[in-house]
Amino acid sequence: MTSFADPDIIACPHCESRYLRRVLRSLSMFGQQTYSDGGNGGILSNVIVRESRCTHCSKIIKDVDALPALGTQSRKSFWRQWFAPKESLYYLPQASFDVYLDLFNDASDILQQRRYAVLAYREFNINFKVYGSERVASNEYQRAYRMLTDFMLDHPMVPAIDEYILICADIYRLRGEFLLSKQNYANVTGKEFAHVVEQGKRWCNSKNTSLMAIKEPDMVNNARNAS
Ligand SMILES: [Zn+2]
Repeated sequence: MTSFADPDIIACPHCESRYLRRVLRSLSMFGQQTYSDGGNGGILSNVIVRESRCTHCSKIIKDVDALPALGTQSRKSFWRQWFAPKESLYYLPQASFDVYLDLFNDASDILQQRRYAVLAYREFNINFKVYGSERVASNEYQRAYRMLTDFMLDHPMVPAIDEYILICADIYRLRGEFLLSKQNYANVTGKEFAHVVEQGKRWCNSKNTSLMAIKEPDMVNNARNAS
């Protein structure tokens, strides 16, 4: 089970507005869903916020983990807080697509750019491309998404790693470029990704351009045993 300790109180480094930061006590991976873009639907990232945008001054806050704790906020029962009303503070929100886009534009090297591009890519997908609940993004977002995914395809990892090839295969599939997608899937060598490749190729064959949940091998086996 995922559980938390009393949250830290932190301050925006730009305007000193105060926020809460979750303090993780234990993290459960049970029920964690992986998607075809390698993301987890923000489940993990909603627990740990690394970058954010201040809702007061609109500036980006980086390295949220490293901000000094100004104190902790007790989560004692309502009854015990009744006589001493506390300051109402909000949790710092998870970075959205536009935050990662700004971070990408400000990044100083390809490593950083690639990292923020991947995060922006996944954030866009979970918001707009989930199978069965696809939505249309604004033209501005669509242009930015295209620019970011072009960058990712133009800057492969050297030496190549399977995880990044899978991301590129997924970009092509979501674009409807199924042949290029399959060419990328064919370059994945790790046995641990065989089930991802198999599913990806099947989605290409059915001309599926949505973000898909990956079925893990044990889930597939359980389903087989059950039927
Ligand atoms: Zn601020």
